[in-house]
Amino acid sequence: MADIIQLLPDHVANQIAAGEVVQRPASVVKELLENAIDADATIIKLIIKDAGKTLVQVIDNGKGMSVTDARLSFERHATSKIRSADDLFHLHTKGFRGEALASIAAIAHVELKTKQEHDDVGNAIVIEGSNVVSQEVVVTPKGTSISVKNLFFNIPARRNFLKSNAVELRHVIDEFHRVALAHPNISFAFYNNGSETFNLAISNYRQRIVNIFGNKTNEKLVPVEEETEVLDISGFVGKPEFAKKTRGEQYFFVNDRFIKSPYLNHAIASAFDGLLKTGNHPSYFLNLKVNPQTIDINIHPTKTEIKFDDEHTLYALLRSAVKHSLGQFNIAPVLDFERDANLDTPYHFSNKETNSPVIEVDRSFNPFKENYSSGKQTTAFKKQTLNNWDSLYVGLESKGTKTEHGFSEVHFESEETTLSAFNDTNKIEQTKTTYQLHNKYIVSTIKSGMLVIDQHRAHQRILYEDFLNNLTIKQGVSQQLLFPLQLHFSTQEIEIINQLKEDLEHTGFVFSNLTEESVEIIGVPVMVPESEVSIILEQLIGDVENEVPDSHFSATDLLAKSMAKSLAIKRGHSLQKDEQEHLVNKLFACKEPNVSPTNRTTFITMSVDELDKKFI
Ligand code: ADP
Ligand code: MG
Repeated sequence: MADIIQLLPDHVANQIAAGEVVQRPASVVKELLENAIDADATIIKLIIKDAGKTLVQVIDNGKGMSVTDARLSFERHATSKIRSADDLFHLHTKGFRGEALASIAAIAHVELKTKQEHDDVGNAIVIEGSNVVSQEVVVTPKGTSISVKNLFFNIPARRNFLKSNAVELRHVIDEFHRVALAHPNISFAFYNNGSETFNLAISNYRQRIVNIFGNKTNEKLVPVEEETEVLDISGFVGKPEFAKKTRGEQYFFVNDRFIKSPYLNHAIASAFDGLLKTGNHPSYFLNLKVNPQTIDINIHPTKTEIKFDDEHTLYALLRSAVKHSLGQFNIAPVLDFERDANLDTPYHFSNKETNSPVIEVDRSFNPFKENYSSGKQTTAFKKQTLNNWDSLYVGLESKGTKTEHGFSEVHFESEETTLSAFNDTNKIEQTKTTYQLHNKYIVSTIKSGMLVIDQHRAHQRILYEDFLNNLTIKQGVSQQLLFPLQLHFSTQEIEIINQLKEDLEHTGFVFSNLTEESVEIIGVPVMVPESEVSIILEQLIGDVENEVPDSHFSATDLLAKSMAKSLAIKRGHSLQKDEQEHLVNKLFACKEPNVSPTNRTTFITMSVDELDKKFI
């Protein structure tokens, strides 16, 4: 038979990749703004028309591009920012994939004008649907201007999928806020349909926040500042009495990059415990600086997610830093806010001596073990863990008996898929030999050598398959809540929940009431602790906003992935021996044990041969 495999032409590959990078006008805004920042611009202008559907233009005074680079910048995987995989761990730029411009040019009409400082003239390129229409010399100021017109002109399905201008504009403004907040040292202007919406001069962080959110914000801010070995935290939290029902002003920046983390959000919420009315959300603007080697940003093309090596410690540190600030500024108990001297007195961590022991204690302290045996007052995360582990047992009983060694044959039921990793000679010998490394990996022996499992990814895989299973057979087991749970969301967020309502019900959620701005829940899936419900829904909403599922199938998959991610045991979490064993067991009972739901390696093996070689 004739050969049938063909390489896709570049413009097709680019269109496919574009689906990942460009979801909506706001994605273009983000990519272009980030490129301008990476080019060391100090003045950046954003111009949009029709919420970005007709035009997104970014003009910067950055370093510009040479003639060759201007042309190359639209090639896939063309980047000036990294040279090798190693550089990923020392990133100081926003971009690194070299995908954005190629993707954007595949699905829009793009005009680039750029000039480097020492050149007399610049270069202009017009590209439409990956085809270069023209490239010529132009007179243009130093820097770069990129106009992206008629987004998705050649993919009508995508274009039709865009929401109303009001919704898309909201996304664009969100993106603009995030970038502008992360860079108070850059001046930004924003023009929407010809009128100036923002004009932000270079300023300090507090002023930038106030310039964006209005003068009234100033009195609401409480500084947070903490320096530790693993993490520096700086920024502001909103005073509790200004907390709102919607989750608007919540910003985490990690090394100047906006990220979403329902988990860390929970840390802040718990620092506010007892200070907020139910249903209210604190606002925060927090910059976290961590060693780039301890994070992994290469997770999602839109890069609002980061994996931390040790989320548990971050959680504890963040919570204690915020608590500390709230205490320091006498926010709890609330006394008098008329005169607020703090505003002019930045918190310089003046009593460092007395503070640092607090941090030390917190670092070694495991908030998730707290009250472990006291039974009554279980903390959110302890509950989560217990429930998670329960969920690992779910279904195990019916899958045959456990052998003395803990690993019954039946766990390798799916021969084809597990074979590659585990053929007969490679079966796990002894479960008693599992060992947890750095609260992150589980090490186990196999006949040919050893196995190292990433606990977080492995658990995600297990939960993901469980959820998918429930979603397909449409009978997730539900536990009834004693009291209905009322959660508040924005109308946009409610819309997303509505879209996913049926699927959520199949996993075990029971909604009793859905209004324009709140949901009432009376039942949750058995493996979801009540205290986690808001984190899960928040994560889910974030994921949907990031990925914009385009079919029912992808929405279901997203839901399973999202819930698995929220509920999976975190890195930094210590596991008992039997928990470790069950994790290993369940993982290899999965259909695709080798990778996490987001296609990341869940385990590696090292044979005795390989070990021997290292000891030569
Ligand atoms: P990435 O940002 O991941 O490198 P992009 O596709 O966004 O990929 O951009 C490709 C390359 O084009 C960048 O690496 C950079 O060298 C160049 N570039 C893009 N935008 C600008 C700009 N505004 N100013 C200068 N150079 C730019
Ligand atoms: Mg880029």
